[in-house]
Amino acid sequence: MTTPLDTLIARAVELGLKSSLATPQAASLLAGKTKSAEAEAIIQAANQVTADYKACLKEVERAAPQHYASLRNQIVDQVRKAMKKQPGMRKWRCKVCSFLYDEKIGLSKQRIPAGTSFQDLSDDWECPDCDVGKDQFVLDQD
Ligand SMILES: [Zn+2]
Repeated sequence: MTTPLDTLIARAVELGLKSSLATPQAASLLAGKTKSAEAEAIIQAANQVTADYKACLKEVERAAPQHYASLRNQIVDQVRKAMKKQPGMRKWRCKVCSFLYDEKIGLSKQRIPAGTSFQDLSDDWECPDCDVGKDQFVLDQD
């Protein structure tokens, strides 16, 4: 049976995941010099979902104050697991030199923002360590 608290926790996990996905992109847009209307909208949406997530955690705290610490850990843990399963947050390994491109981190020395998927890198992108093309990269399974 699903209790109202279970529903609340599921909602918190969902919001936490959305917040974790939206925040790196918003942060990189905030750091950028050009502020387009589209960028503003993305930043605003990320702030909103993060606020919703925090509000939802507060509701969990109100619903079960005595269990809040362990429930919160449980929620954070589930968000982390869900993040790992996101197709947009993978790692790609260079077959030649083993350089690892982590989509979650991006590549700051090439000004590639965190959260940039490997597919979204330009077709002429090259391995920063050995200069081979994208076709020499394989998905890193961990
Ligand atoms: Zn390489």
